[in-house]
Amino acid sequence: MIENNLYTINERIEVASKLAGRNKEDITLLAVSKTKSNEAILDTYHLGLRSFGENKVQELVEKYHTLPKDINWHMIGHLQRNKVKYIAPFISCIHSVDSTRLAETINKEGIKNNRVISILIEINMANEESKFGIKPCELAEFLEYIKTLTNVRVDGLMTIAPNPSDPENNRVYFNDLYKLFVDNQAKKSDNVSMNVLSMGMSKDYMIAIQEGATIIRIGSDLFGSRS
Ligand SMILES: *Cc1c(COP(=O)(O)O)cnc(C)c1O
Repeated sequence: MIENNLYTINERIEVASKLAGRNKEDITLLAVSKTKSNEAILDTYHLGLRSFGENKVQELVEKYHTLPKDINWHMIGHLQRNKVKYIAPFISCIHSVDSTRLAETINKEGIKNNRVISILIEINMANEESKFGIKPCELAEFLEYIKTLTNVRVDGLMTIAPNPSDPENNRVYFNDLYKLFVDNQAKKSDNVSMNVLSMGMSKDYMIAIQEGATIIRIGSDLFGSRS
């Protein structure tokens, strides 16, 4: 079943890329494996996937220790500062950075682990009360602050769009985030680059790709629905 799901997702990635005049190779499928078993993850691993996203620190750390070491683990859920230390040694990218205090803690743990940690800034595009993320207008100041940190590198932006009744409804948020992304490419510095745009989930990834996503985060369309 997972094999068929992956086949369909790859086909859709190709269709959406073509519509937008993009190369499908420029889009990374992040397999969102939260709540899924090691067996299910290994199934997709054996089909070639190497990037997995989790939203809980404990589950992430357990899976990291059990599963093959060439997996790139991404933290996509809200992250508490006191838990950064558990993932700092190995995490490939933290998508959910939404405060300068959190960035500062990640920086400290980066220094302790002698590595530069890749982060994305989470933006709350639809201004939803229930969602984490900074406001678009807060980004410039945030990036100014990040420039002072030695062991954090901002690779781009992330958003969690509203759960759509019609995926087209999210196009405006993806397009607005893309514009913000491009506007801030001019403000590059040693540790701020804008190369990664993490947006789009099972219901709306085809729209996100058309609007410029470079990472799409897919859980249920790949693994089946979560209980
Ligand atoms: C769960 C989750 C996803 C995947 O959601 P699906 O709708 O199952 O594809 C993507 N991003 C984040 C941040 C998530 O928490």
